[in-house]
Amino acid sequence: MKYIDPYGGILKAFRNRYGEKDVVIYFSDKIRRRWFRGCWGYCDFSQDIPQIVISAWLSTHHAVEILAHELAHLVLGKDNMNHSGEWRRVFEEIHKEVIRLQQEVDSE
Ligand SMILES: [Zn+2]
Repeated sequence: MKYIDPYGGILKAFRNRYGEKDVVIYFSDKIRRRWFRGCWGYCDFSQDIPQIVISAWLSTHHAVEILAHELAHLVLGKDNMNHSGEWRRVFEEIHKEVIRLQQEVDSE
């Protein structure tokens, strides 16, 4: 049986491109609507170890996108929380690596 854990795939892709980072990732049922900072997730740098919080109300597909989105913020750090070209480049790098990993599994 071939199975790619969608969250594990994103995290593996992230590690392959950007190495191991200290981060706590969790899902919260408190993020129910877009009212929360206009987002379905966020990267919180106020703790010793950064935290990525993702709404628990999303589909897997959407939650994985939000995870990749917040991991790109993690790479760029708290002083660069916009969606600049640099952020987009990191986000796309994570996606490219996910696709490469999927192709690797598909060719097995
Ligand atoms: Zn963002």
